[in-house]
Amino acid sequence: MRNQTHLPDLLSPVLNRRRALLGTLSLLALPVAHVSAAPPAKPKQQQRPDVWPHASQVPGGVARLSLGPSAKRPAAFSGDVPLLVLGDAIEWTALVGIPLAATPGDASIVARSESSAEKQVAYTVAPKQYREQRLTVPPRTVDLSPDDEARYERERAHLATVMATFTDLRPDASLQMRVPVPGRRSSSFGLRRVFNGQSRNPHSGMDIAAGTGTPVLAPLPGRVIDTGDYFFNGGTVWLDHGGGLLTMYCHLSRVDVKVGDVLKTGEQLAAVGATGRVTGPHLHWSVMLNRAMVDPALFIAA
Ligand SMILES: [Zn+2]
Repeated sequence: MRNQTHLPDLLSPVLNRRRALLGTLSLLALPVAHVSAAPPAKPKQQQRPDVWPHASQVPGGVARLSLGPSAKRPAAFSGDVPLLVLGDAIEWTALVGIPLAATPGDASIVARSESSAEKQVAYTVAPKQYREQRLTVPPRTVDLSPDDEARYERERAHLATVMATFTDLRPDASLQMRVPVPGRRSSSFGLRRVFNGQSRNPHSGMDIAAGTGTPVLAPLPGRVIDTGDYFFNGGTVWLDHGGGLLTMYCHLSRVDVKVGDVLKTGEQLAAVGATGRVTGPHLHWSVMLNRAMVDPALFIAA
């Protein structure tokens, strides 16, 4: 199994920026001594540099891939799904949400800029073993009746269109999120779940303990792209933050926004509840990048 070190991926944006900068400086014919007089690059604090989201090249994580310099923002794709590209003319970075179901090993994206030919950027997905979680819920939410099954299928088709939303990124985009509700944040993202003894999809979000009625606040500026009452997710709101970065809030007792509303960071969008398939009141919060649910913890300060 390939399990290369991921240092190059963490460091390459810095190195590339430096290389680009050196290139620019040499164009300006500045003396080399001036460049080498710059203080040596400090090692980044542990493995979590102050960039958002943090890189974590595992299923359910995010890869940050250097695309190098380019006058205009390049377009990047994973398969035919567009990717979020951040940066400036000196250095662009593609963010790749890695699905929980991804197979560890080699992967790649394609980037296109106006100035250069299409190029492939390779990366490696390291394996990650998520723990198992056993839950007991009402039997009708595990063995669905034909009516509930039909309802779920309709909802799934609708949600597929919501999840395909891709709009322009805000030019000033910072992707550090504030937590949508204060409270104990579980580290339950990715857990392999067994409901009433039956295996189901892994847990694709973060659960935050909070009482019914607690306000849910927007973690970033965003536009409301869906609200509804869904079979598993209960009262739900989806926000679009641009560039294929979406967030979802579930099990809500109340929804305070409608599709099309534009929210600032910290604006209230709903209230915590216990609707849908739950064992008690809490907020289920999901973060989606290029249609992959990724770990919300990568977007928030510890
Ligand atoms: Zn949850």
